[in-house]
Amino acid sequence: MSLKTRILGLAATLIIVAASASWLAYRELSEDIIERWGQQVAEIQVRYDSARLLQSLEREIGLARQMASSSTLIQWAQNPNDPTLKAGAIRQMESFRSNFRDNSYFVALRKTGQYYYNNADNEYAGNQYRYTLDASKPEDAWFFQLIEEGRDFHLNVNPDVELGVTKLWIDVLMRDDEGDILGMVGTGLNLDDFLQDIVDIGQDGITTLFVDYNGAIQLYRDRNYIDFASIIKPEGQKNTVDLLFEDPQDKQQILGMLQMLKQGGGEPGAVESGFVTVDGRRHLAGVAFLPTIGWFEITLLDLNTLIPTSYLWPLVAVFLASLLISLLLFHLIIQSRILRPVVALEDAVKRLREGNFNLPYLPKPDNEIGRLVDHFETMANRVQLNTRDLEHKVAHRTEELHRLARVDALTGLKNRRGLDELLDAEMERARRDNQAFGLIWLDIDHFKAINDKSGHQAGDEILCRVALWLKANVRPYDHPGRWGGDEFVVLLSPCDTATLEQIANRIRDGVEAESRKTGLPVTVSVGGHLCKPGEDSDTILRLADRALYEAKAKGRNRVCITHPDETVVSSGA
Ligand code: GH3
Ligand code: MG
Repeated sequence: MSLKTRILGLAATLIIVAASASWLAYRELSEDIIERWGQQVAEIQVRYDSARLLQSLEREIGLARQMASSSTLIQWAQNPNDPTLKAGAIRQMESFRSNFRDNSYFVALRKTGQYYYNNADNEYAGNQYRYTLDASKPEDAWFFQLIEEGRDFHLNVNPDVELGVTKLWIDVLMRDDEGDILGMVGTGLNLDDFLQDIVDIGQDGITTLFVDYNGAIQLYRDRNYIDFASIIKPEGQKNTVDLLFEDPQDKQQILGMLQMLKQGGGEPGAVESGFVTVDGRRHLAGVAFLPTIGWFEITLLDLNTLIPTSYLWPLVAVFLASLLISLLLFHLIIQSRILRPVVALEDAVKRLREGNFNLPYLPKPDNEIGRLVDHFETMANRVQLNTRDLEHKVAHRTEELHRLARVDALTGLKNRRGLDELLDAEMERARRDNQAFGLIWLDIDHFKAINDKSGHQAGDEILCRVALWLKANVRPYDHPGRWGGDEFVVLLSPCDTATLEQIANRIRDGVEAESRKTGLPVTVSVGGHLCKPGEDSDTILRLADRALYEAKAKGRNRVCITHPDETVVSSGA
């Protein structure tokens, strides 16, 4: 995997980890804020809904209480069969009818069980007595139950089968001075209108319901859940609020909240709240107790509707956009500040490794990599200079070695190898130019004896002197050399027989004359051969050697030259 991929992968991982951590923290924080906000909203909503209910009911309850304490009605209830009292009571009832919001009332007498009722249409004018309550009928059980319980005030949601209406009934007991129960009076509010006005007010995400002291649902937008005639149902058969929740923990929680508020003694304004799930959606439930009517008000806030998660989408979009832009910027910076210089440097290192000093342009960012590139360039220059210097030295030394390999260490003349090469070159030139050249082969006479007599050192000195005299007696463009031992060779180019003889004799004369001056006289025997174009080296050397041999044989200290017919002509001292 390339460095670039790794760096970008690492950066993306780090950004995603950091962003996820921030996102989780944000979620936690926003959940907390929403929870706090929701709790406050729930409290406000609960109080608002409670106030709306109480506002609608309190006047009706007050009127019903007033009606229950009417002396006219109390007297009649004590003597239900007295026609005068009954007429007064009916008048009194009718005056209350016009005051009730629903323009309806009911009066039920304990003594006779007679039930009186009239509605907004004054349908039962003069015929207010509707029927007689029967303790054995289940639909009349509410009356007998309430009297038995002795509850002075009660709200009851109940369909009246006889009258064909479903109402929220306000029931108030009528008592005499001794507190004995004489009957019950009250009014009914049309349930549908009431639900629409108070409960189902069409606010999205807010559900309001009212439950009685035992948790039985009294007012709820879905009538199927309402626990009609709750008073007469035994515990366990009531539609209690926990029916709305699926999760046992939620059921527990809601019932626990009701319990808490009951134990709080109905402290005014107290609100309990907590999270619950309704229809698979998370809701915040707020619960308050309404001591005036003995009911609980429950408000369910659907937080997803009130604060939809789509609110967070712009945030997610901003987050993703920033992530992309960050990665892009990171990529560009890494590319220009690190990767491009590193790749160029790697390429330059490869070239240098292969001995190529022609380096490409290297970008130098103002950082560690820029400095590294600087150091590399300095190092590359040094390596280049050192290499050139070494190459130069090696060439020089090689040349020197080459030269030394062709020079005789003692005399400084060409050695045998040097002479061989020169001979090859002369043969080539002779062939090319069709020109002859001369070869002189000379050998010091009785050199062994000199060595033996004067020592090897003196012998060396003589060799050196002979070399000097040899050089002095040849032309500047001739090539004298030491063939080995006490033998010397001179190549003469260009040359003819006369020149060959002349130089050979001059050499012999020179050695004899000069050595005499040193007090250690030596002589040399000289063989000469004029080499013709096309002659090979073996022939040349053989013929020159033969001439030398002739010179030795004829008494030494003389010159012998081979002629074209290969006869040797000698010229003595
Ligand atoms: P001739 O007249 O037949 O040439 O007799 P010679 O004694 O010179 O015999 P030859 O040329 O065969 O002997 C050469 C001698 O040169 C043999 C050897 O001891 C001696 N010699 C060879 N190389 C060197 C050298 O480098 N230094 C010294 N001092 N003596 C050398
Ligand atoms: Mg000799």
